[in-house]
Amino acid sequence: MDHVLKIADRYFLTPYVYPASWPEDGALRQLISLSLLTNLGAQTVYIIFGALNFYCVFDHRLMKHPLFIENQVSQEIQLAITSLFWMSFPTVLIFFLEIRGHSKLFDDINQSSRGWPGVFLSVAGFLFFTDMCIYWIHRSMHHKSIYKYLHKQHHLFKIPTPFASHAFHPLDGFLQSLPYHVYPFIFPLHKVVYLSLFIFVNIWTISIHDGDYRIPGPLISIINGAAHHVDHHLYFNYNYGQYFTLWDRLGGSYKYPSVLQGRGPTDHIGKLAADKALIQ
Ligand SMILES: [Zn+2]
Ligand SMILES: [Zn+2]
Repeated sequence: MDHVLKIADRYFLTPYVYPASWPEDGALRQLISLSLLTNLGAQTVYIIFGALNFYCVFDHRLMKHPLFIENQVSQEIQLAITSLFWMSFPTVLIFFLEIRGHSKLFDDINQSSRGWPGVFLSVAGFLFFTDMCIYWIHRSMHHKSIYKYLHKQHHLFKIPTPFASHAFHPLDGFLQSLPYHVYPFIFPLHKVVYLSLFIFVNIWTISIHDGDYRIPGPLISIINGAAHHVDHHLYFNYNYGQYFTLWDRLGGSYKYPSVLQGRGPTDHIGKLAADKALIQ
């Protein structure tokens, strides 16, 4: 975040917003700026990529499914926007520690002990670590003593749209995002790689809610896509994973996507339409 903050300071906040007497490295100023940037960044990524996905990828026939609730899209957006706002408070504190130099983020590729191969290795490490942690956090959210207080809000949407991607109780959303923040405090990671991965994981989260159930054949058993995640929304105790099916397989919660067996939400809509045509 320090690159983002530096750019915002140089081109906007220092010349137009803060008084000249307030130094750029003042703690309170940094916290306020980080709050603005975190909210702006998160809401923008959610709205822009969510809308692009909704209008260009999402199968709008799904809105005719009997489990698609009234005003669902506006409920999803309202919950997500509120949640992203509240989540930003603890997130900003972590970003603050990061820009104060407490993480293992680095700038110069030469600071990576393995150079470029090390950077590629860190991407794999980041995806593996966050996938593993999110699996267990998500699975814990389904424990009966926690579920109704936190995670139930996300499961209001049985047939999700891309806008459901960030529609969580704020604490649920923050806990599930925690692995992304913790990783660079444990493992070295290039700052630009981190920022790119952060944007990528938000887009990925949108994509597994987008109703585009196609997956290239060989990847069906490896990648946790929208076909897998819609079964999580429909059948509840399966496919908790984020990017991969690995932890669902190890944890005994893997379910082969019903969409790919001709029993998905679009098949159900097709059957209802055929039944209706027969009656008429
Ligand atoms: Zn869940
Ligand atoms: Zn979901």
